[in-house]
Amino acid sequence: MPYTHILVAVDLTEECNPIVKRGLDIAMTNGAKLSLIHIVEPMAMAFGGDVPMDLSLLQQQQLDQAKERMASLKLKYPELVAGETLLTYGQPRQEIHDKAKEHHCDLIIVGSHGRTGLALLLGSTANDVLHGAPCDVLAVRLKRD
Ligand code: AMP
Repeated sequence: MPYTHILVAVDLTEECNPIVKRGLDIAMTNGAKLSLIHIVEPMAMAFGGDVPMDLSLLQQQQLDQAKERMASLKLKYPELVAGETLLTYGQPRQEIHDKAKEHHCDLIIVGSHGRTGLALLLGSTANDVLHGAPCDVLAVRLKRD
């Protein structure tokens, strides 16, 4: 069965290029739609919960920056125009699973660094997304320079 809707998770760094390219290749061979998702993690989450200051301005800046980066990614890959661009707040695993279900995606693509040692213990988004995923997951191996 060919895939019909592919969801590519992008962290909006330079590293997302090989993941987007892979997604586009698979979308083309399957005749599938491709959507991008980026999750802005709440600042309080990054600081471990209790932060005694107002982070709303910083969060707005974070969201604005993500919107700009998402727009330039779409400009770079004109084939993406047909797909949706999902930008949400929250925890990447939960948001990726929720949006994949909501948009009836049958393949999620994430990048994977192939961590070893201490980094392996800290976990990866790819590993997180794989557990409990509502559909197939492809982890694209990212090479470090
Ligand atoms: P990491 O394990 O955090 O190094 O990220 C590996 C991959 O997870 C990235 O290449 C993206 O595919 C995905 N990812 C990480 N953070 C996010 C994010 N905030 N939004 C969407 N995808 C993400």
